[in-house]
Amino acid sequence: MTTSRKSQVLFGEKFYKKDNICNICEKEKKLSVDHVPPQCCPPTKNRFISNLLYQMIGDKSFRPRSIQNGVTFKTICADCNNFLGRKYDKQLGELSRKIESFVESNLVLPDSFEVECQPNAVLRSILGHLLAAKTETDEVIIDKLIRPSVIDPSIPIHEDIHVFYWVYPYEETSIMRDFWMPSVRGSFQGGGLFNLIKFYPMAFLVTHQVVGGVGQV
Ligand SMILES: [Zn+2]
Repeated sequence: MTTSRKSQVLFGEKFYKKDNICNICEKEKKLSVDHVPPQCCPPTKNRFISNLLYQMIGDKSFRPRSIQNGVTFKTICADCNNFLGRKYDKQLGELSRKIESFVESNLVLPDSFEVECQPNAVLRSILGHLLAAKTETDEVIIDKLIRPSVIDPSIPIHEDIHVFYWVYPYEETSIMRDFWMPSVRGSFQGGGLFNLIKFYPMAFLVTHQVVGGVGQV
């Protein structure tokens, strides 16, 4: 990124759908604004939106900028939005604040460390916001696998859903939906579709096409 910090405009970035189909319950309803990251996550620094996001959601008019409030997607109905906030986001916020305290502590971070959290709610929060982070109504397989467990907390997360996660101590918020990545770098022999959601202080990579791996849940 080459944009100077002085020229950046401090506005939230908003994305809209052309139709009124909720990305989570798939009903036609008035859509509401979903915040990524959710507002209960640490309100750190300015966030810098990656041009990758614009490319992945098909917006070619990229203007790099720093914003304070993350990204907003007017893509889910108020019922689903409130449900995400009430059921899952609090746990993601708590975990984010714990990770933040490590990152901001000036300690040299070990390769891995343990943090107490409610992984089920954290994952459902991430998966729910991943569903929201799309401006098209489409039929991708992973969305179909994710939806039931986001809508109903009693339904287990589908066994094909794999989530990799790591500490992400950077200001840039980046969200990428449905991109293909080779299983061996530089090779096109095999690979899978991935989804990435990165915001200070954590990053999550989500796929339904990988078996095994470090960090898998
Ligand atoms: Zn809905």
